[in-house]
Amino acid sequence: MYNITLIPGDGIGPEVVSAAKKIVEATGLNVNWDIVNAGADVYKKTGVLVPDEVYESIEKNKIALKGPITTPIGSGFRSINVMLRKKYNLFSNIRPVKTIPGTDSPFKNIDLIIFRENTEGLYSGIEKKHSENVAEATKIVTSAASLNIINEAFAYARKNNKKKVTVVHKANIMKLTDGLFLDCAREVSKNYPEILLDEVIVDNMCMQLVMNPSQFEVIVTTNLYGDILSDLCAGLVGGLGLVPGANIGENMAIFEAVHGSAPDIAGKNVANPTAIILSAAMMLNYLGEKEKSNLIIDAVIEVIGEGKFLTKDLGGIAHTADITNAIIGKIQTLK
Ligand code: NAD
Repeated sequence: MYNITLIPGDGIGPEVVSAAKKIVEATGLNVNWDIVNAGADVYKKTGVLVPDEVYESIEKNKIALKGPITTPIGSGFRSINVMLRKKYNLFSNIRPVKTIPGTDSPFKNIDLIIFRENTEGLYSGIEKKHSENVAEATKIVTSAASLNIINEAFAYARKNNKKKVTVVHKANIMKLTDGLFLDCAREVSKNYPEILLDEVIVDNMCMQLVMNPSQFEVIVTTNLYGDILSDLCAGLVGGLGLVPGANIGENMAIFEAVHGSAPDIAGKNVANPTAIILSAAMMLNYLGEKEKSNLIIDAVIEVIGEGKFLTKDLGGIAHTADITNAIIGKIQTLK
């Protein structure tokens, strides 16, 4: 029996998280879900953004599946997502981006994975307003956090027989901060002589990704670049509805889709639940339930490949509940 914290979140969160919960249950995994919530909706009702029970549940279970949480733009509270990653030192943000056959996207053979540093960089939350017209943000890069994520990327590359790790930086301009990140990558790469260290400046990386994405296998980068490149890569394979993610630390992990709360489509039963369902599959793999994890991935690939139950973002008319039920049906036949 696994005890897993389940955080529905805001916007489309409750719709897609409930789909992922059903899918995990359909695999036969024995789960005791600890359902707690945080975010803008909770704040409206209670005046508290993250109730204590959320922290308590995550700290007890050490594993969570989380829906997206709305963060106000400009003013208002800091991102709860960024705060949770920092508070629990979930230093690896891992985002696999893979073509699912049957999706209508310009590229057909993308299979890359982004390792994004998750606790510092420009997301350290240190900002100052000096006057009405002058503001400052502090970018922090430490070798400890950089080595953590870079080691993860190389270890993954070795384990999965990947030939190249691409470190994305802007060390030509940000000489000290990105320079340190790059130095750490060069240092780690010495322990992996069979893997090529490919160094690419972030602006060139954007161009390379939209011209020829299949040249990349493993990408490792700092917090902000990783955030931006993840959405860019999601666009290459058919959109944010498809790309899962994991935030992993020493002995704790929170799984969530790359996408946000999508307020434009919330409450309409049209959100694509695939990204959070694949995040749940990553969670099962992390728990050592590889067979059940693969069962979910295979069912998703088959349902999307058949093209009968596609949500609007994939060019179809199916509702969230339709594609969810189709995946559950597929799991029953594949089991
Ligand atoms: P978004 O990812 O919510 O949406 C961007 C676009 O993609 C929208 O058009 C949306 O409809 C579409 N989209 C996203 N997910 C989809 C899905 N599953 N199915 C179909 N279409 C989907 O990005 P945004 O609009 O910039 O952000 C909205 C809110 O989410 C903001 O408050 C932001 O801070 C927050 N956010 C949270 C997280 C997180 O919790 N981890 C991540 C990113 C953004």
